[in-house]
This record gives sequence, structure tokens and C-alpha cells, in this order.
Amino acid sequence: ANVTIGASVIPVINKLQDILATVGGELSKISLPQVVVVGSQSSGKSSVLEALVGRDFLPRGCDICTRRPLVLMLENRARTPEDDGREWGEFRHLPGRRFHDFSKIRKEIQAETEKEAGFNKGVSDKHIRLKISSPNVLNMTLVDLPGITKVPVGDQPSDIEARIRRMIMSHITQENCIILAVSPANSDLATSDALQIAKEADPTGSRTIGVITKLDIMDRGTNACNFLLGKVVPLRLGYVGVVNRSQEDINKERGIQEALAYEEQFFRDHPVYNGLSDRCGIPQLAKKLNQILEQHIRTALPSLKAELNSYMALVARDLKVYGEVVQSEAEQGMMLLNIIKRYCEDFSAMVDGKGQEILTS
Ligand code: GDP
Ligand code: MG
Repeated sequence: ANVTIGASVIPVINKLQDILATVGGELSKISLPQVVVVGSQSSGKSSVLEALVGRDFLPRGCDICTRRPLVLMLENRARTPEDDGREWGEFRHLPGRRFHDFSKIRKEIQAETEKEAGFNKGVSDKHIRLKISSPNVLNMTLVDLPGITKVPVGDQPSDIEARIRRMIMSHITQENCIILAVSPANSDLATSDALQIAKEADPTGSRTIGVITKLDIMDRGTNACNFLLGKVVPLRLGYVGVVNRSQEDINKERGIQEALAYEEQFFRDHPVYNGLSDRCGIPQLAKKLNQILEQHIRTALPSLKAELNSYMALVARDLKVYGEVVQSEAEQGMMLLNIIKRYCEDFSAMVDGKGQEILTS
């Protein structure tokens, strides 16, 4: 199950976040970018997020399922012998109630959606906030959004398209956000809504990853090879093709592990895609995201170090002024800061060189 976001960088980034949280206040913490999925309705956005988290808990389906933005806060918690590393979810609107059963999380998302957006396909921009606490995640946030839709149905207002576009833009124009632009391979990729809106928010393409879903149901005799290679719509961070569960798989309640195994086999057996293995599969998408997260931290390190240095100078000055009285406390602070600094340096050394891979892949 180690394909999920952060599997390779969890220990190192979480430790850094922990230490910075301890120092608190004066030092800006490194906050990881939010990951936001965008695309047309039923392109497979929720499916992709779910596969990245490695748990079944999001409403998915061929109709409009995601009708309110879902802000998914992943929170790393150390494993203790008592809780045996159990994962749980907690909603902002139901504080104190821990959901250990992830299918109940899905039901609660549905109920909460209906409460705000009605029963008849209505859409609301009021967020649902869900925290997932687990030893196997990074402290970061993922956002699932309603898809772009053109024709109003059910309770949707006549300007539904504009409303949803605004909702999406308000999330993805934030600089500290990685856009997963999800386009289904069984529709015209060159006119993808996802790529269009991502381009609007991120014109240089420095934080957009193209995700092509439904490679398993393209027309016979066609494939997305040129697209995955960036020959049709070039994208600096490139594309990853995936195969998620079909509606039939959902109806038959196929689990996520089975789906990942199927995906792996699909790409391995495919005459075209088996030559593009670095651009195919959920594990590759997770890897790409990890590289971007590492790069992000690496970029943040110099200013963090500078901040640490000036903070240390302050502490040293206080130490001189107040002398004995605060000495032990200040010394402890100094020691802690030295540890962080060393840690930052080690981290730079560790990710050095890796960052370039992202841009060249
Ligand atoms: P969203 O509206 O973009 O969040 O899309 P969903 O994740 O809800 O998926 C929409 C429908 O497409 C569901 O019925 C999924 O089972 C199906 N689907 C998503 N990805 C794939 C895929 O890669 N292959 C196949 N065959 N079906 C998929
Ligand atoms: Mg969805």
C-alpha cells in the first residue's frame, strides 16, 4: 500500500514539520502545497484522489457526485502500541467523532452534501472539511472539487458552468497549490476543460500535472501515447496516465488494492504503454508528487535557514543581556535551533540532485 502520497518522504518531511511546530511562533513553518483536482464532471477526479490516499471513502460515480468542495486534511500521527497505527477520519462539522469505518465517511459526505446542496444535483461552494489522522500520511491538504459541467440539470442554476469555474479558480489561483488536471482519455484530449482551466490559473505550467484517466476505455486502435509524451499539449511537469475503477467495479465494490493490481497488469501487458512505464500508473503519479514536495521544501530551505540564523542571533543577544536568569532556557532554545539547522542541511543534501528530475521528466 506504499504508493500513496508521501510514502518516501513522510519521515523526513514530517520530522521537519514537527520540529518547526515545536519552535513555533517566530519561525514560519514549512507548509506543503495543497493538491487540487480539476476537470470536467466524471473525468475521474475523485477516483484519482482516492487512489492517492489509498483508502475508499469518496463518493464516485457516473452522475454528479462531488457537489461541494471537500477539503481533505491529512494529518500525520505517530504510531503508538495502543492505537496500532489505526487511521480515522473526523469532520469539522462533527467534532470529536472519530470515523474508523471509511465507508461511513463516504455516507457522511453524501449526507452533508445533501444537507447543503439538496437532493437534486444542486452544487454548493460551502466546503466540507475532513481530517484524516494516520501514521501513513504527510501533513498536507488535498481538495476534491465538483467538475466542470455545461448544461444545467436538476436544481442547478442556469449559470452553473460559470459558478463552478469560479469555485475552481478560487482554489487553483493560489500559488501554493499543485493542480492535478484530470482529463478522460475517451474524450477529445486536445480540448480538455481541465487543461484549459489549469492554464488560466497557472500560465507557465509550473505547478500543473496532467493526469489522463480511463486509458482502459479508449476507442479501439487509439491510444494516448502522444499525449502522455506531451506532444499534443506540452506541460512542463508532464503527464501521468492512470486506470481507475470502472462503474462496474464500483457497483461490485472492488477494493483499492485489487484496482491497483489491475492497473499495474493493464500497463504491463499493453503493447504501447509498457514502453512508457515512467508515465503510467497511480504509483508514478504519487512519485511525481513526492518529487515536487521535496523540491518545494528544498526551495523553502534557504529562507528558512536565514530566518533561523537571525533568530539565533536574537537568542544569543538575550542570553547576554539577561545572563544567568534565562540562561538555561535560552541555551535550550539555541541547542534546538542548532539541531534544526543541521537537519535542514542534511535534508538539502538528501534531496540534492533529485529536484532536477521533475523538470526534465
Ligand atoms: P469525478 O466526477 O471527476 O470525480 O469522477 P469519478 O471519480 O466520480 O468517476 C466518474 C466515473 O468514471 C465513475 O463511474 C468511475 O468508475 C469512472 N472512472 C473513473 N476513472 C476511470 C478509469 O480510469 N477507467 C474506467 N473504466 N472508469 C473510470
Ligand atoms: Mg468527484
